[in-house]
Amino acid sequence: MSKINLKAPEVQVREVRLGSITAFKGTAKELVKLGRSGKLKDGTRSFSQCMGCSSGNAFCQLAMIKDAAIINHAPVGCSGDFFGFNFVYRVGQMDRELPSVNGRYFSTNLEEKDTIFGGINKLEGTIREVYKRVKPNAIFITTSCASGIIGDDVEATTNKLSEELKIPVVSCFCEGFKSKIWTTGFDSAYHSIVRKIVKPPKNKSNKVNIINFWGSHIFDGLLNKLGYEAKYIVPFSTIKELENISESAATIQICTTLGTYLGAALEQIYGVPEIKSPPAYGIEGTDNWIRELGRVLDREEQIEDIIKSEHERVIPKLQEYREKLKGKTAYITAGAAHGHAIIALLRELGLDVQGAAIFHHDPVFDNGDAESDALAHDVRTYGDIHNYNVCNKQAYELVNILNRVKPDIMIARHGGMTIWGAKLGIPTLLIGDEQFSFGYQGVLNYAERILETLDNKEFVTNLAKHSSMPYTKWWLEQDPFTFLGRYTHVKNY
Ligand code: SF4
Repeated sequence: MSKINLKAPEVQVREVRLGSITAFKGTAKELVKLGRSGKLKDGTRSFSQCMGCSSGNAFCQLAMIKDAAIINHAPVGCSGDFFGFNFVYRVGQMDRELPSVNGRYFSTNLEEKDTIFGGINKLEGTIREVYKRVKPNAIFITTSCASGIIGDDVEATTNKLSEELKIPVVSCFCEGFKSKIWTTGFDSAYHSIVRKIVKPPKNKSNKVNIINFWGSHIFDGLLNKLGYEAKYIVPFSTIKELENISESAATIQICTTLGTYLGAALEQIYGVPEIKSPPAYGIEGTDNWIRELGRVLDREEQIEDIIKSEHERVIPKLQEYREKLKGKTAYITAGAAHGHAIIALLRELGLDVQGAAIFHHDPVFDNGDAESDALAHDVRTYGDIHNYNVCNKQAYELVNILNRVKPDIMIARHGGMTIWGAKLGIPTLLIGDEQFSFGYQGVLNYAERILETLDNKEFVTNLAKHSSMPYTKWWLEQDPFTFLGRYTHVKNY
């Protein structure tokens, strides 16, 4: 179990804290076994085409706090993805029928001379200007490679400006160069929130924290039935609402890759129990998860009634979908915990999962509970997954593999990845909302979307006819793991 240390301004990166990796080739069972035995070592790619950055992952959580402003202490190029965060924020506002407003995102625009003389004066000036312009209830400062390398004392500046402006001005250390695991950025954002925003509880409330991205509000009905109320965090919360998450009765995570640190921090520091079962994807996964929810909320009898009636409702329909999907094959590319969730869903629906390219792997979570491992749950419940690849979005590996396995469908979790399946004429499904496939109804929702995708092949068939690949015939004939260091000798494809 990692020890949450709120005295430290920075959270340790996942490589150090959890032993997380970004390169592996083998089977899911091997990966789980290596992780459990403490023998998991990262592979080393001698060629890397692209990478994510912790700064973006931190920003995507902080950027949707409704009454906060965010300053990226960085060269302006690091703000290239602001428009994307604002787009997601605006779409989320429409879904929630909220007034339409732009995100309050700013950059200190560090230039060459600032990297020589220091950027602190610029940061101070920007914080004052942002406060004057938008009067936020908190200002978060996300750091960058440049501010980290020149050694600007961001923590001292934020402390000074907090006193001056009488609002929390909070540093969030998420320099891209520090970690290969870009989900470290989630931990950085949550560390900032727990350190400087969340207050010790005064009373216990009947709220249940739902750590999620910006998905649909599917928990309201279930929790209301149990006498509780859902509190969706962090996107679309206010600073005031975040102050009180220490008073909640429990914490649910929609995705352990996202919420591992915040769930553990709230439990360790404030005693808010975390639901530790892997999130509820697939029938058995949902049974386990909902039983743990019932145990933590002291609603075990009611939960057994819900399980019984949901099985009666869902399982006959599930059988029909299994018949329709019989013999179909699938390949998955997604982030870690949600990738494991998709594997469970596809296996539940009877699809043959030919392999998976999953962006990173955490052998353990911050709560230290081995039962939280969704990949271990998949292997135990549905059997091993051969051709399991930990691949941090290296499209050259993915295209090479897809070209060999040619699945009936590719499931992707991130927009930039879908194009590779489509260019090869493979029907590709992208579902951005994790909540869509959560729980009993989620299995049916997912089945319906898969069938729709398989029924609409024409678009990708035509796209493939008229598109070209940037990869040569030579590369497509090589072993996909040619550049994967110590794993290159293993050939399963
Ligand atoms: S913080 Fe570093 S890795 Fe991230 S966008 Fe800026 S320069 Fe790139």
